[in-house]
Amino acid sequence: MSAPGADLSGQGSAGDEHDLPWLATPLRRTLETQQAHALLIHGPGGVGQFELALALAKGWLCEATDRPLVDRPCGRCASCKLHAAHSHPDLLVLVPEALRESLGWDLGGNEGEDAGEGGKRKPSKEIRIEAVRAAIVFATTTSARGRAKVVVVHPAERMNDVAASAFLKTLEEPVGDARFLLCSAAPDSLLPTIRSRCQQVVLALPPAADAAAWLERRGIAQPGVLLAASGGQPQHALDLAERGVDAAAWLALPRRIAAGDATALQGWGLPAAIDALQKICHDAAALACGGAPRYFPKERVVGEANLDALLQWSRELARVAAEAEHPWSVDLAIESLVGQGREALKTPRSRALPREALSLNSTG
Ligand SMILES: [Zn+2]
Repeated sequence: MSAPGADLSGQGSAGDEHDLPWLATPLRRTLETQQAHALLIHGPGGVGQFELALALAKGWLCEATDRPLVDRPCGRCASCKLHAAHSHPDLLVLVPEALRESLGWDLGGNEGEDAGEGGKRKPSKEIRIEAVRAAIVFATTTSARGRAKVVVVHPAERMNDVAASAFLKTLEEPVGDARFLLCSAAPDSLLPTIRSRCQQVVLALPPAADAAAWLERRGIAQPGVLLAASGGQPQHALDLAERGVDAAAWLALPRRIAAGDATALQGWGLPAAIDALQKICHDAAALACGGAPRYFPKERVVGEANLDALLQWSRELARVAAEAEHPWSVDLAIESLVGQGREALKTPRSRALPREALSLNSTG
């Protein structure tokens, strides 16, 4: 399984925005207007906050100083080449261990973290305090190539409170030419004091046609289906495709779940399976309320659902999602949730139980 970031980060000949074309405008605009030492780049997941941060860092560090800043990065200077090779001495990328490989940043840059007991510790999903301390030291040392020192933190909400507090001090009292780029799809979960120290750069969802064209260039058939499946977030749509879910599999999902077929989600892993079930539940509920489905075409939503049962299913999905990190038996958990889904997606009681109603009448 390769993750979506694998071919998106760093190999572009100029800036990473070339891999995500909708970032070109925000990149130019941000280079042009933002002089703040700390930026918070936020927006929906899957639109490229991390890639924009990398492209900005590349632009700031680019040594083609004969060009105006908005025309950087050049992609050809020594600095740009070091950036592309993920070995720029003035760039530190702070990502949780668990994301490094999928983002293509699994080498270097996080020396502050210990490898744990014989390297057996499970990769952390948090940005650890040791890594933040190393980043603070990094930011306070003189830049190797004389342009700037850049620290990219992604996703910033993965810093726990201790790490975030340590980081805050550096944001409050920046030294030298250090610049910070925080990426987030959940800015509300950051410490308010962190948010207030940063200039905000907001990324919107790209136009659906642009996102679909981008997916098509990556060999995705019927990109509109996976794009809708991902709420319009193109990187998430690509992620879905790379996990082997094509348009046909997605479209068949509501019907299979309504039939209680848990094998439809085999190999998805619990978080992705819950996400899909929540979308099926959402669309069934939306349709039952007279609204429009969001993740599936209307004709694919299994209708005539029971709102009370859907609500109950939705609560159970949320409960298990909140505990998705627990060592569940994944297959059992999915089977149980699909079982509840089958019940919730059944014909509503008012239609399903005429005989019961009849017998109640006859006895009463
Ligand atoms: Zn350059």
